[in-house]
Amino acid sequence: MFLRLTTALTLAAAPALAQEVNLYSYRQPELLAPLTDAFTEETGIKVNVAFLEKGMVERLKAEGRRSPADLIFTVDISRLAAAVEAGVTQPVDSEALRENVPAQYHDPDGNWWGLTTRARIVYASKDRVDPGEVTTYEDLADPKWEGRICTRSGTHVYTIGLVAAMIAHHGEDYTKTWLEGVKSNLARKPQGNDRAQVKAIWAGECDISLGNTYYMGKMLEDEEQTEWANSVNVLFPEFEDGGTHVNISGVAMTASAPNKENALKMMEFLASPKAQEIYAAANYEYPIAPGTEAIDTVQAWGEFEADDLNLMDIAGYRAQALRLVETVDFDG
Ligand code: FE
Repeated sequence: MFLRLTTALTLAAAPALAQEVNLYSYRQPELLAPLTDAFTEETGIKVNVAFLEKGMVERLKAEGRRSPADLIFTVDISRLAAAVEAGVTQPVDSEALRENVPAQYHDPDGNWWGLTTRARIVYASKDRVDPGEVTTYEDLADPKWEGRICTRSGTHVYTIGLVAAMIAHHGEDYTKTWLEGVKSNLARKPQGNDRAQVKAIWAGECDISLGNTYYMGKMLEDEEQTEWANSVNVLFPEFEDGGTHVNISGVAMTASAPNKENALKMMEFLASPKAQEIYAAANYEYPIAPGTEAIDTVQAWGEFEADDLNLMDIAGYRAQALRLVETVDFDG
């Protein structure tokens, strides 16, 4: 889906006609609109967005220096790290960015900057699981959960992030055993998205599932899914030697950004506490700038201590994580 991309392409070929900035986004239009509108209002810079479903890195590589894109918007450290490795980003640094984005949520070299976080938590049946029963991620491999866990595919980036974090905490051997344990506790083969697991809890197929926090908000918004949401508690497990696993939504400047100055202005705007709160609210996420707060609905799910692993460390283990998931045939 493209909004005004034709204009963006034309202007890239004949630049400097207008103040503008061009985005490639994996994030949905309704999440970006409040931000892009506020940015244009504040700066007069027009924002053109191409919404992509997949293939962003391939597209940037194919377009090379002729790409109209200045900024890329996506979620998950895996995807951000993959963009950096493909060479389609460039390092950016500024005082405003550093002030508002804590060190563990940006690339030390400045290639990507986090804007919001989401935690990967446990949804647990209100009827069949006592909130105190789930305390750690490690515990999910305990035989007491046999036949009681539902989850999406082990190869999905959300799972890979969690498995990579487990490797960072405990090493590969431990993580392999853990994955085998979790697999043997599954109520059914991994399938569907995070919300489908909560539906399965509601339907009595399983008792706990892994999912990202914001889906609770999304389910409550949806008439058909409200019942699913109301059948579960949000529990925040921790690593035995750490906190709750979080991932980010983030932004990166493309290597070829034709409107570099405007792109930096937009990054700084996005990192500002006000913009983070708008962005976080749109998807029930957590803003990360000092002094910012999630909306009440999100805060009501409970407080947690985010794991303090640097996301770069997690990203560094993602290939190993995928190999382990395949080795134990997690989805099989
Ligand atoms: Fe998601």
